Amino acid sequence: MSTVLEQSLAHAPVTELKNVGDKLADKLAKLGIHCVQDLLFHLPLRYQDRTRITPIGSLSPNLDVVIEGEIMLADVVFGKRRSLAVRLQDGTGTITLRFYHFSGAQKNNLKKGARIRCYGEVRRGRAGLELYHPEYQFVEDLQALPTEETLTPIYPSTEGLTQARWRQLMSQVMSLLKKGRAIDDLIPDAMLNPYQLPDLRSALMYLHQPPKGANLQELENNQHPAQKRLIMEELLAHNLSLLKMRATIQFDHAPILPESTRFKLPFLSSLPFKPTNAQQRVVQEIQQDLSKGFPMLRLVQGDVGSGKTLVAAMAALSALEQGYQVALMAPTEILAEQHLKNFQSWFEPLGISLAWLAGKVKGKAREATMAAIKSGDAQLVIGTHALFQDEVVFSKLGLAIIDEQHRFGVHQRLALKQKGNGFSPHQLIMTATPIPRTLAMTAYADLDTSIIDELPPGRTPVNTVAIDQHRREQVVERIRGACLSGRQAYWVCTLIEESEALEAQAAQVTAQALQEALPELKIGLVHGRLKPKEKADIMAEFKQGGIHLLVATTVIEVGVDVPNASLMIIENPERLGLAQLHQLRGRVGRGTAESHCVLMYNMPLSQAGKQRIQAMRDTTDGFKIAEIDLQIRGPGEVLGTRQTGLMQMRIADLQRDGYLLEDIKQWAQLCQQHAPQIIELLISRWLGENIQYGQV
Ligand code: ADP
Ligand code: MG
Repeated sequence: MSTVLEQSLAHAPVTELKNVGDKLADKLAKLGIHCVQDLLFHLPLRYQDRTRITPIGSLSPNLDVVIEGEIMLADVVFGKRRSLAVRLQDGTGTITLRFYHFSGAQKNNLKKGARIRCYGEVRRGRAGLELYHPEYQFVEDLQALPTEETLTPIYPSTEGLTQARWRQLMSQVMSLLKKGRAIDDLIPDAMLNPYQLPDLRSALMYLHQPPKGANLQELENNQHPAQKRLIMEELLAHNLSLLKMRATIQFDHAPILPESTRFKLPFLSSLPFKPTNAQQRVVQEIQQDLSKGFPMLRLVQGDVGSGKTLVAAMAALSALEQGYQVALMAPTEILAEQHLKNFQSWFEPLGISLAWLAGKVKGKAREATMAAIKSGDAQLVIGTHALFQDEVVFSKLGLAIIDEQHRFGVHQRLALKQKGNGFSPHQLIMTATPIPRTLAMTAYADLDTSIIDELPPGRTPVNTVAIDQHRREQVVERIRGACLSGRQAYWVCTLIEESEALEAQAAQVTAQALQEALPELKIGLVHGRLKPKEKADIMAEFKQGGIHLLVATTVIEVGVDVPNASLMIIENPERLGLAQLHQLRGRVGRGTAESHCVLMYNMPLSQAGKQRIQAMRDTTDGFKIAEIDLQIRGPGEVLGTRQTGLMQMRIADLQRDGYLLEDIKQWAQLCQQHAPQIIELLISRWLGENIQYGQV
């Protein structure tokens, strides 16, 4: 293992290489390649085998081959499309090379008697077997020119950068690598050996220039030890960076919050139900964190309706009782308002004062709220993203609760740290979109997790059906029946465009049409364009039973809780992701009545659309749905991590390589115990500019 970093050219700009000027450097920069190391990690997409010449007589279609021979005939052929057809023979057989685009020079050079070597894919063409637009070069004598020694890499490229250019570039880098000057090997043999993985240099050499006979299938599947070597190193670096962030946070001070004695009992006895075992267990897990003196960072995962709010309330009471403030943030105003109502009815009887802060709170009201937060008069502050703003100053923030975390970026979450003057507030993050275990380990290695794996008693699973739009009238009849028998229903309108205005408009039109079809029902409408007060009034009326059918846009996706609503129609469900559909469906099935969800789709359905609808019909288990979602969409989309800067991996792919994560955990431990000196080096190698993430 070489550790002399100074000698390595890993960080030398690409312009240090021969024949690399600013122009080429600009093109490389487009691919995120700035230094020598970036080139090393720019791995081929696939490989071609140009190591041997195939006799023309033994060619068969769909093979990539090198052939060599003498031109017997070259002719411009007119037909549907003009082409240059070149007949080549090598003594074992003949084949036609066909060019649809050709220059005059090409036509002149490819003449009878010339000898050429070509590379291309054999296809069945007009004149038997043909090669379309093969790469070719002229040879003096057949058999004289040596064939390639290694497989030929094909690199991901950008406009104006040919594969030939890539090969030149990489062969320079490979010769540096051979001399041991391109990069340092950080992972000790003791870690590599048990997995029979090669050292870094061998792995890179292999991948850029695989030897003759290399197992292309294995390479294509990303299962070759050389690939695994790099994938594991990258995953390790990410894991270490999260662990480091965690460790840094543990040096911060946070208030010690023992379990509430004064508030807890009166609160619990005011509830019409008893916490489930799962809720109690999670409350205990949180309580242990709160009493440690360094900031809690805990993610509570619980399916929709599992009762996360109660768990949050219990945590809040511990902080409030010690005289600390609590901030509760929700991703949408509707959800935040609902929390406000809930907590008002729960906490005001206990003498706790609440404050409300959303973006739309303006003027005097805003000033007053800000002053109350600053003075500490506001004990529990509930709101939206507005709570993150710099001008919001807390007197003594002890706990921040973030509901439905998947809408918040990691950075926003971390910005909170700045809000506890002098110490870091505890953080409780709640998500209703369960995160697949494999992802949680990498993406949330910085968080402890608790799972509420039990729904409150008396819930009946939602029965989900999928129905074609053409049967809309039947659906309308069904609503009539349900509402006239005392139940309530949601009608969710979806739009492809991300335009709140268009979505609102579509919902309005739908609401009107439904009102005409169902004159005996009281129909309400909520969308993102309404004023908060209007929204709140309608929601309240719906909750009280004054509205039978609530037509809504996806603004009601999270958190809204009306137990008597037992029927939900989702229009064009194929437009939504699985997690979102599951969230929406979670609005029903909250009471004791049997609930139904009707997915009213529009033909034709895409493959993914079909898969999603099928998954919704198959299960109501949020964890299963999350796994299926991951399979359909991949991890970046599922986590919405483009904004977090977390998943930008160069070589590894969490979904494809997820099976390695258990090993990575062990590697990380080994690293911490036996090779702590490489941790920083690995993090900076692989996370590079994203490094601030690891340090926040
Ligand atoms: P979510 O986990 O989706 O945020 P909520 O906290 O909104 O779920 O709870 C959903 C509903 O279940 C609410 O009406 C809440 O009052 C009720 N609830 C919570 N815990 C229990 C329990 N232990 N027993 C019965 N109902 C409960
Ligand atoms: Mg909730």
